Amino acid sequence: MPTLDSSKTATTDSQYIGRFAPSPSGDLHFGSLIAALGSYLHARAQGGQWRVRIDDLDPPREVAGSATRILTTLEQYGLEWDGEVVWQSQRHDAYHAALDELEKRGLSYFCTCTRHRIQQIGGIYDGHCRMAKHGPQQAAIRLHQTHPVYYFTDDLLGELQADSALAQEDFIIRRRDGLFAYNLAVVIDDHFQGITHIVRGADLVEPTVRQISLYQHLGYPQPGYIHLPLACNATGDKLSKQNHAPALPAGDPRATLVKTLDFLGQKTPENWQDLTLPLLLRWAINHWSLDKVPRQNAKAPPELTSAFSK
Ligand code: GLU
Ligand code: ZN
Repeated sequence: MPTLDSSKTATTDSQYIGRFAPSPSGDLHFGSLIAALGSYLHARAQGGQWRVRIDDLDPPREVAGSATRILTTLEQYGLEWDGEVVWQSQRHDAYHAALDELEKRGLSYFCTCTRHRIQQIGGIYDGHCRMAKHGPQQAAIRLHQTHPVYYFTDDLLGELQADSALAQEDFIIRRRDGLFAYNLAVVIDDHFQGITHIVRGADLVEPTVRQISLYQHLGYPQPGYIHLPLACNATGDKLSKQNHAPALPAGDPRATLVKTLDFLGQKTPENWQDLTLPLLLRWAINHWSLDKVPRQNAKAPPELTSAFSK
């Protein structure tokens, strides 16, 4: 019989480990809060852990100071994470090691094709450089796709099918400019952090089959997935930094949390103004119900969607 190690009481009674992994390309907005709160509540409702990673993989797209502001905002909203924050900028050795391993196993190759050429052949890469034995100069690295994944089961959305050409494509795992590709880094880090369930926005449904195929190539156990509905602005566009989604309001976060719960189809306490922030979150954890989360994207409250609508 294994003995219980009392030093490992932590916060968990289950093996569930979830996460929130924002990119520091701007402040958190209502759309990001949906992913943060949804992943947090789903983890805590099962006694699981919730981890935070800063996906600072792409320095040119980074907004100075936003990583710190993101973490401060999570604290302000009472979303406490477990363990240390992981920064992708500190994880390059792990990405290099995985690239080396894939190369050794003949599962990757250098590609010098231009975007123009790929556009001309219809936008899906055709494996042109597989046998070319290019060197690293001016070249991207592509995965030699040997485990295409055509569908996966989302615990909210059900079975989701991928476009088969996309599933079979030798996708990029290191960019021509030397930056590691998002699909590579996210899989290596989620595995490293022991993530068992990925809860994130539905804008990331499409790359999921590629990520699952990387889990298979690397021999990692596959996590579960939930893709949450996206918040849209008045014109129906997904809230994003590009369409000027305003930063989350400063000050008392409770009203915004209640609006986020409502967006996620959850009950909200009538007396929330009498609840402290920790009690409001505890209430939300106790009442969390994945079944009630809408499957469709929806409009966000107008006051949270546009910096210009005030
Ligand atoms: N860092 C990615 C983003 O902010 C999300 C990564 C993920 O959830 O898989 O879009
Ligand atoms: Zn090529």
